Amino acid sequence: MERRAKLYEGKAKILYETDDADLLIQYFKDDATAFNAAKRGTIVGKGVMNNRIAATLFAHVAEHGVPTHFVKVLSEREMLVKRLQIIRIEVVVRNIVAGSLAKRLGLPEGQDLAEPVLEFFYKDDALGDPLINDSHIRMLNLASGPEMEAIVDGAFRVNELLKEYFDRRGILLVDFKLEFGRHKGQILLGDEITPDGCRLWDKVTREKMDKDRFRRDLGRVEEAYAEVLRRVCG
Ligand code: UDP
Repeated sequence: MERRAKLYEGKAKILYETDDADLLIQYFKDDATAFNAAKRGTIVGKGVMNNRIAATLFAHVAEHGVPTHFVKVLSEREMLVKRLQIIRIEVVVRNIVAGSLAKRLGLPEGQDLAEPVLEFFYKDDALGDPLINDSHIRMLNLASGPEMEAIVDGAFRVNELLKEYFDRRGILLVDFKLEFGRHKGQILLGDEITPDGCRLWDKVTREKMDKDRFRRDLGRVEEAYAEVLRRVCG
């Protein structure tokens, strides 16, 4: 598969066109940003690790009935994906209180949630990705009713699958962010599933093994990603 023109460059990934109009190459960079890109840095080897982690997790959820954009791994930092018309909603699923939920509702980080909590954020950097609800989604025409049903079902199903997958590897899935898109009339899971967009805590020590190590200057960032890679793919 040949790499053609650059279609889009994001904070952690680049999308390239290919000789097939339905397929893109997703390239994983080492760049890391946080707090709406106010903080920038590099996590050495992140792109290589995230490519492998995402490929493994996409394949796992696809095997269990959640359609994704992932086609195959092409190289250390590249995967072949189906071209999506991305839906401008960040879908967050939470199992344990952390991050913006703790702040917004005044809850202690680490508190177990009785049932998974689903949140939507409007994908708009200029606005700082504000929290939105179904009513806003309809108002902004971001997705249709049936599309939202597919997205909500998909997000909860991914949560069940990944919670179990990580648990067997000694990792708590605290929360994570998903993005979905349209491809030939179907809703597919897109973007990535990696420690950049998930909170992952060691089940025994509760040590953070994700991008919070970068966000909060906790050190040993590369080591944490490498340990996730070892447990997920090893
Ligand atoms: N998240 C993400 N991209 C974003 C915002 C959040 O991948 O732009 C992920 C984040 O890594 C975490 C989950 O979504 O796993 C929930 O994040 P939260 O709303 O707590 O925001 P934060 O406080 O991390 O900004």
